[in-house]
Amino acid sequence: MEVTLKNLTKVFDDFTAVDHVNLTIPDGKLTGLLGPSGCGKSTTLYMISGLLNASEGQIMFGDRDVTTLPPDKRNIGLVFQNYALYPHMTVFDNIAFPLGNKPRSERPKKAQVKEAVEKVAELVQIQDLLKRKPKELSGGQQQRVAIARALVKKPDLLLLDEPLSNLDARLRMEMRQEVRRIQLESKVTTVFVTHDQEEAMSITDSIVLMRNGVVQQVAGAHEMYMSPSNEFVASFMGNPPITIFDVEVKDGVVYFADGQTYEFPDRADGKYRLGIRPEAWKKGTKLGSRIEHVDLRGQDQVITFTLGNTTAKAVIDAESEAMIGEEMSFDLRRGRCCFFDPETGVRL
Ligand code: ATP
Repeated sequence: MEVTLKNLTKVFDDFTAVDHVNLTIPDGKLTGLLGPSGCGKSTTLYMISGLLNASEGQIMFGDRDVTTLPPDKRNIGLVFQNYALYPHMTVFDNIAFPLGNKPRSERPKKAQVKEAVEKVAELVQIQDLLKRKPKELSGGQQQRVAIARALVKKPDLLLLDEPLSNLDARLRMEMRQEVRRIQLESKVTTVFVTHDQEEAMSITDSIVLMRNGVVQQVAGAHEMYMSPSNEFVASFMGNPPITIFDVEVKDGVVYFADGQTYEFPDRADGKYRLGIRPEAWKKGTKLGSRIEHVDLRGQDQVITFTLGNTTAKAVIDAESEAMIGEEMSFDLRRGRCCFFDPETGVRL
């Protein structure tokens, strides 16, 4: 089911948490709502779910206007960071619970409940755990139960609010892949809220990046990383992050603050903010600096150095060992550099 948000706005007292968001969430896809803490992504999700009323604007599920409908009339599945399973119930009963909540006339028979629970338990791969109580499960298993419970009613829309935040790093990676697999198999339209850009990049079909209640860019992970619409998007996506320099261009040459230069032949004269991704640096001859720190990661190394008055990070292969204090010179892959308007931050 396609979901459309039209001018969706939430004002708390005099604070605008979500500011005229216009967005289409495509049918059958996994859309990530991404942004720093406080940017309004959870508020947006809660308005889609009906747990929060919109101050302004409209929410369409297909061609149905659901803006004022309560959550139980929206046929959604919700999964939160804290799984909120019922501790006294078995896994089976936890998953079956939403089916018992239906109006008496729509309530499924016992055999149908069993079939529905077993099917969804198999999808999330907890079919052997149905007799256990939540406290007898690992964090990842509990989260699988929470996802199964959200899916058992065959929702039109699955809403996940930071569902993996409580898991340790390794389990988190494993569950990322699982959420993706489950979504692909169930084909349910899904919105996944996260503040973690790597998480968003690794599992979503498209990312909605928000800042201060405003959507900054909507794009697939690859496009958002390669072609950020502004400096905020460029800085938010990527680890190590992009380095931004204040530069001046004259006659096709970029001047850094310390007077070092690099040719960018097609660039018009003027002042810019120049973003250089860590992988845009390569060992070369043109831009020199002293290595301040080396973070060896095995397959590559992250070199920290200062150019002009800006500290930068470069990722280069680990074949030749880099030493702190050593001079290193770099060339640039120009295609991995972005120029931004110093006033507006817009990519030029
Ligand atoms: P996080 O990742 O920290 O959860 P978020 O992007 O999900 O952040 P929201 O929870 O949507 O952010 O909150 C957006 C803004 O709205 C924040 O500044 C928050 O303090 C504010 N806010 C949220 N709920 C309320 C409320 N009930 N009353 C007043 N302000 C609120």
